[in-house]
Amino acid sequence: MSSVLSLARPDILELQPYQHAPWEPSPERMHANEMPWRAQGDNTGAGLNRYPEPQPRALVERMARLYEVPASRVLVGRGSDEAIDLLVRAFCRAGADGVVICPPTFGFYKVAARIQGASVTEVPLLEDGFGLDVPGVIDAGRRSKIVFLCSPNNPTGNLLDEAGLIEVCRALAGRALVCVDEAYLEFSGQPSLASRLDELPNLVILRTLSKAYALAGARCGTLIASEEIVELLKRIIPPYAIPSSTVEEVLRLTEAPQRAIATARIRTILAERVRMQARLAVMPAVEQVFGSDANFLLVRCRDASRVLEAGKSVGLLVRDFSRAPRLEGCLRISVGTPEQNERLLAAMERT
Ligand code: PMP
Repeated sequence: MSSVLSLARPDILELQPYQHAPWEPSPERMHANEMPWRAQGDNTGAGLNRYPEPQPRALVERMARLYEVPASRVLVGRGSDEAIDLLVRAFCRAGADGVVICPPTFGFYKVAARIQGASVTEVPLLEDGFGLDVPGVIDAGRRSKIVFLCSPNNPTGNLLDEAGLIEVCRALAGRALVCVDEAYLEFSGQPSLASRLDELPNLVILRTLSKAYALAGARCGTLIASEEIVELLKRIIPPYAIPSSTVEEVLRLTEAPQRAIATARIRTILAERVRMQARLAVMPAVEQVFGSDANFLLVRCRDASRVLEAGKSVGLLVRDFSRAPRLEGCLRISVGTPEQNERLLAAMERT
């Protein structure tokens, strides 16, 4: 067994996976207890009366092309949230194993670990600029199964230094998985770490269509990892996880014309990010605007509740982190349309 698979839960390695009905689209299906007719008004391509393909080939291939990796290294799930959950369940024994997170960061890593009964070790991002504490993460990672790193990080917005991520992967080879969540990478202009998978077998990358591709409601996330990890996770993903309506919509909405529109919209978001940063930086209500490589800005306010109210008064909701450790007074503002941004900035200027 490879060193990376030896990190998995032994009972999962031995698990006899659920035997779903074989996916055979051509013979007529009388093997899956489905209805032979579509529901009235069902105009989908495949028919919602049929179970979907478990890992839909066309979708896997589309994601592989989009993220420029081999299809054998791709697992698609219901958002990257599902991939996080699967990783924790496959690698952490309840009450025995744990994960490392680097707060302030995306909240679901901790929740997924807790649901599984795994322990959570926190190695905070550095005081100055929210960079990675590389020696601290390596040290904690040696006593854990998975290290979750988010780059660009939510909610701080900054990329983590690539050399540091690689150093962590190398130091933890055979000891822990390093999961780099690239949910916001498209807004950073940086390449994915996925191209380094050959040299870093314990690396797992997460990508999502929920952000740059405007498909959060479709629930489609992609895990990119060594074939062994992908095959292991396929054993525990719930049967028929991806709805056929999602498959059809995602295939339609990630064609070349839509990708070109997504690219143009990312440019607009980046231009708006720069414009908002400049305006926020000189506002009396604002103490600090953090640099961002994502589609949101973290802003420390002199009086966060007044700024929240100002947003609400013009019909806009921003995310309140003001009571979170290390984020006192901070709000996270997702970059919106130019009109929304202007409305928010104007309201903030009046506070
Ligand atoms: N990772 C990060 C860093 C996120 O911010 C989010 C959503 N806010 C996710 C993963 C989950 O995304 P999804 O499940 O929609 O792919």
